[in-house]
Amino acid sequence: MLFGEIKTRRPIRWGMVGGGRGAQVGYSHRSAALRDNSFQLLAGAFDIDPEAGKAFGQTLLVSPERCYADYQTLFAEEAKRADGIEAVTIATPNNTHYAITRAALLAGLHVICEKPLCFTVAEAKELRDLAAQQNRLICVTYGYAGHQMIRQARAMIAQGDLGEIRIVQMSFAHGFHSEPVELANPSTRWRVNPEVAGPSYVLGDLGTHPLYLSEVMLPQLQIKKLLCSRQSFVKSRAPLEDNAFVMMEYDTGAMASMWISAVNAGSMHQQKVRVVGSKASLEWWDEHPNQLRYEIQGEPARVIERGMGYLYPEAQVDDRVGGGHPEGYFEAWSNLYYRFAMAIEAMDNGNPDLIDELCIPTAEAGYEGVRWVENCVRSADQGGVWVDYQ
Ligand code: NAD
Repeated sequence: MLFGEIKTRRPIRWGMVGGGRGAQVGYSHRSAALRDNSFQLLAGAFDIDPEAGKAFGQTLLVSPERCYADYQTLFAEEAKRADGIEAVTIATPNNTHYAITRAALLAGLHVICEKPLCFTVAEAKELRDLAAQQNRLICVTYGYAGHQMIRQARAMIAQGDLGEIRIVQMSFAHGFHSEPVELANPSTRWRVNPEVAGPSYVLGDLGTHPLYLSEVMLPQLQIKKLLCSRQSFVKSRAPLEDNAFVMMEYDTGAMASMWISAVNAGSMHQQKVRVVGSKASLEWWDEHPNQLRYEIQGEPARVIERGMGYLYPEAQVDDRVGGGHPEGYFEAWSNLYYRFAMAIEAMDNGNPDLIDELCIPTAEAGYEGVRWVENCVRSADQGGVWVDYQ
C-alpha cells in the first residue's frame, strides 16, 4: 500500500517542455510527478509562445528565471547550474518529440516523453541507442498501465489462471471526433495533420494504448503478422484515419483484433482489453478501471475488485486508499511516475537491472508503439492485406 512516502533518496529535479495552459495532457504529468514527491518542478519551456510559457510557469511556482523561451535555452541554461534539472517531460505535439528527446539526451537529461516517441522505427532505434550511450533513461507515458488491475491481469495470465491464451480482443473507440471538431479545437487540429501527427491519427493516438496494455499483460506473445484497414469517415482528415481495424497473429498461433476509432458516436472511451484463454477469460475496461471481469467457463462471471486482499501481491502494492473507494486515471499516472523516479535513480546508481522489475514503459515500449503503427500503415496502404511484422 502507498502512503505518499518518497520512494527515492530525494525528489528528482525536473522540468517540462510543453504542457502549457490549455494543453490537454500537461496537468496529468504534473499531477502524477508531484503526487508522491517523486519529482520537483524547477524549470520549463511550457508553451510554443514564450511569453505565455513564462507566465504560466510562474503560476506553477517555477522561478521566473527558470521559465525559458524554448527547449534549447532550457537545456543549455539548466546544464550550467549545479542544481539544474536531471529529467525532463516532453508533452508537445508529436512532430517535436524526436528532436526534443534527442536534444535532451545529448544534454545529459533523463526523458519522459509522450507517445508516440517519434515517427519512424529508424528514429526510435536511434533514440534508444542514444539513450544507452548516454546512460540515460527514456520513459514513455502509456499512463493506463499504472492501473492496479493491469498488474492483476498480468499476474493471473502468468499464473495460468486463464489456461493457454487463444484470443486478445482490444478496442479504444471514442466518439468525441464524430464531427470535424478540429475546425474549432487546436488540440484536435494538429492530430489530423500528417506533418504534425505523423503517419497515423487514431492508430498512434489511441491504438498504442491498448497495444501497450496487451504487452504488459502478455509479455510472452510476439506479433508475427498483421492486417490493418483504416478509414477517414470525416473526409477532410484523409490521408489520416479516424477509424481502423487491425487483426494480428502471434507467434504462438494466438489471434488478436483491435478496433480503434474517434468516430464511435456516443461512446466515451471504450478502451477494453479482453484476453481469452482455454479455461477462462478476463476483461478490463478503462471506464471502470477498479474492476476486472473474470469469467471461468461453466461458472458465473466474477468481478474482481481493486484494493482487496485476494489480489496477487503485485496488484496490491499501489493501493492508496483500500478497496471500495474508487481510484482512477490520476492515480494510475502517479503509479507510473514514482516508478520513473525509481528507475532514474537506479540508472544514476548504476543499477539498471532494477528497471526491468519496475515494469514501466521505457524506450523499448516507445519503439514497439512506433513499430506497430508503421506496420499497420504499411498493411492499410497496400489495401488492407496481411503483412509480415517487421
Ligand atoms: P496540446 O496541443 O493540447 O498541447 C501542446 C502543448 O505543447 C501546448 O501547451 C503548446 O503550446 C506546447 N508546445 C508546442 N510546441 C512546443 C515547443 N516546441 N516547445 C514548448 N512547448 C510547445 O497537445 P496535447 O493533447 O496535450 O498532446 C501533447 C502530447 O501528448 C501529444 O504527443 C499527444 O499524443 C500526447 N498525449 C498523450 C496522452 C496519454 O494518455 N499519454 C493523452 C493526451 C495527449
